Amino acid sequence: MTDKGISPITDILAKSFPQKDVHGAISMPVYITAAFEFETAEEMEDAFLGKNGKHTYTRISNPTVEAFEARVQAVSGAKHVMAVASGMAAISEVFATIAYAGSNIVTSPHLFGNTFSLFFFTLKEFGVEVRFCNLLDINEVKKQIDENTCAVFTEIITNPHMEVADLAALAEVAHQKGVPLIADSTIVPWTTFKAPDFGVDIEIVSGTKYISGGATSIGGLILDYQTFDWTQSKKLKSLAEKTGKRAFQVKFRGEIGRNMGAIMSPQTAFLQNLGLETVDLRFREVCRNCLELALFLQTLPKVKNVNYNGLPSDPFYEISKKQFGGYPGAMLTFCLEDRAACFAFINRVKIIRRATNLFDNKSLIIHPESTIYGTLTPEYKKIVDVPDNMLRLSVGLENVDDLKADILQALN
Ligand SMILES: *Cc1c(COP(=O)(O)O)cnc(C)c1O
Repeated sequence: MTDKGISPITDILAKSFPQKDVHGAISMPVYITAAFEFETAEEMEDAFLGKNGKHTYTRISNPTVEAFEARVQAVSGAKHVMAVASGMAAISEVFATIAYAGSNIVTSPHLFGNTFSLFFFTLKEFGVEVRFCNLLDINEVKKQIDENTCAVFTEIITNPHMEVADLAALAEVAHQKGVPLIADSTIVPWTTFKAPDFGVDIEIVSGTKYISGGATSIGGLILDYQTFDWTQSKKLKSLAEKTGKRAFQVKFRGEIGRNMGAIMSPQTAFLQNLGLETVDLRFREVCRNCLELALFLQTLPKVKNVNYNGLPSDPFYEISKKQFGGYPGAMLTFCLEDRAACFAFINRVKIIRRATNLFDNKSLIIHPESTIYGTLTPEYKKIVDVPDNMLRLSVGLENVDDLKADILQALN
């Protein structure tokens, strides 16, 4: 990789389309159809058995979605890519593939709100235990892993705590114990962050964020690097004995993805494919804006601790630089005097939008404690530990001086 990353618009990508369009369309057309028809019963049989690579039904596969997956695969270097309906569908289906009643997931309580809820409430009722620990403390992680651990899971920069675990160290303890490392890398796209260099086996991305090209659609991706030996997994062992490192892919494609049905729609795949072409450019630009705003916020007396890994004063500056090459995403948090000051700030912004979501082209502000974590009881709020005087800002592509002026006027 050069310091400019791998551009999503290169020859390898053009060539990665599985088939040339019949009309030579330069963009992959949107194949809006539920089913595909065949000339003969024999051809149909072969399609259903996966012998001729033909599509049968859009819940199983679709040419537009497949083209998007192929492009992501070419840019990321993953061995297999699965595009699904949302980031949450990606996380749910990864665990539907590897977890089982009696298994456990070792992770941090500092997670995206819905991921926390999925682990803590939804999976619990299926008999999957979540073991929250401090992923920054490798010894603690080691103690939590046992023979029923199906994965160590982490967000590469936790949202909204902005912590960065040492991925190579996590991978080392996980692998020593025969467990895969699964990472949600939504915050730094794979054009910059090279997951397999740090031992990540499965990467999960909410395509809704940077890749969609500006909040155009909801989507999710699962990137399988096929680095893990699944014969060590109680659930996938017998499949892995037959299919080797492709066991996860085979389980997902042949069963979980199809049965859960949370497929990416062809319309979404078209939008995300387009977003993918500019993701690297947009990402670097919003990161520059974000760093400049973080430095600016630090100079303002009314602003208490600013959290952004790109700040040299940040406790995760070095590890973040090592893992994300100086581009630690375009989300920062900062604290004001109290909750009332946060609400007043939100009510006064003029350019920054009052909205959830991350990595739109527009800057977005939210008060996480009252919104994303708002329905949690005080007991759970304590576990997730999101202070009520904290704001989260997702930085967009606006002129950075306009954003600074907006922040100043909203504070005063
Ligand atoms: C948004 C987000 C998700 C969920 O993605 P959706 O596409 O909204 O389902 C998961 N993880 C992180 C880190 C996110 O920011």
